[in-house]
Amino acid sequence: MYPKIHIHLKKYAHNVNFITTLLHKHNLSIMAVSKVFSADPRLIEVLNKEDIDYIADSRIDNLKKIVTNKPKVLLRIPKMSEVSEVIMHTDISLNSELEIIDLLNTAAHKLKKIHSIILMFDIGDLREGIYYKEDYLSTVKKILSMSNIKLLGIGTNLTCYGAVIPTEETYEKLEDIIKNIESNLSIKIDLISGGNSSSLLMLMNQTLPKYINNLRIGEALVLGRETAYGNLIEGLYDDVFTLEAEIIEIKVKPSMPEGITGMDAFGKKVRFFDQGMITRAILSIGRQDVDCANLIPPKGVNILGCSSDHLIVELKNLDLEIGDTITFKLNYGGILSLMTSPYVEKTYDKSL
Ligand SMILES: *Cc1c(COP(=O)(O)O)cnc(C)c1O
Repeated sequence: MYPKIHIHLKKYAHNVNFITTLLHKHNLSIMAVSKVFSADPRLIEVLNKEDIDYIADSRIDNLKKIVTNKPKVLLRIPKMSEVSEVIMHTDISLNSELEIIDLLNTAAHKLKKIHSIILMFDIGDLREGIYYKEDYLSTVKKILSMSNIKLLGIGTNLTCYGAVIPTEETYEKLEDIIKNIESNLSIKIDLISGGNSSSLLMLMNQTLPKYINNLRIGEALVLGRETAYGNLIEGLYDDVFTLEAEIIEIKVKPSMPEGITGMDAFGKKVRFFDQGMITRAILSIGRQDVDCANLIPPKGVNILGCSSDHLIVELKNLDLEIGDTITFKLNYGGILSLMTSPYVEKTYDKSL
């Protein structure tokens, strides 16, 4: 049955091996991020066989089902309502709120566990983290006094919300934080988690500051690219995931709608360009599974638009029939939503 998302385990293993070798060569540990594929067990199996150091996901539901000997990391700062689950199902969590860390400490104490945290700092991207100009020393001091919390390290996240690209200047803010904490509180911070796939370019250019000894990598492993500028990394696959969808109508029709036009099914005004009569095909997939802006069509296929259950494309000099399929490459948002849709069948290449 279509639509199918094809998962190429060997290509994923190749990408993971490549990036892990790169990080280890520069003395960085790697957290492999599984959220984009909802911690699919077959892909987790690949991670288990590779030399990655941690498995990280943003959702506790995913972390619960992951079977691994690697330490599990919760990426999204915890909800107050899930602190016990965080202690039970993860080894490390990223945090920015003292109130939550305090609750984690209480829960860890009850469950007789020591829970490690990475304290997040916001150095300009404006997602999670303590703002770097704030007075954070008293917060760190309080964390250090907690009986069941271990301050494993500090971290920052870039190029996620504010689209701030990592640079040496931006990273100076992180270095100041480390120096400030280490000198004032007489401690040594073990882990400095400096970012995600957007920091890979600096690593490859040998400009990533040496004090950064960990990165959390998701997108580069599934799409083979760094995310500061979105360029492919030579030697990596960009088609670990592909989508195959089935054609349910092919007709030659005009390129312009006829009649008075209002809004589409999603309340948007749509613009059309008159190219005369064109060959149009409809595929049985829609926005309930994926936004068509996240599909990358093959040559000869031009995406015109999509509604909840229909994807409409133009076919140019392609000899296709009803029942044939078209295979698309995907971007990050496409993989994310297709792996979450219960209507999309997952298929895998032969076992490793
Ligand atoms: C998703 C996420 C990552 C991974 O980012 P990529 O761009 O996919 O490498 C890293 N850190 C945090 C906190 C995240 O939420």
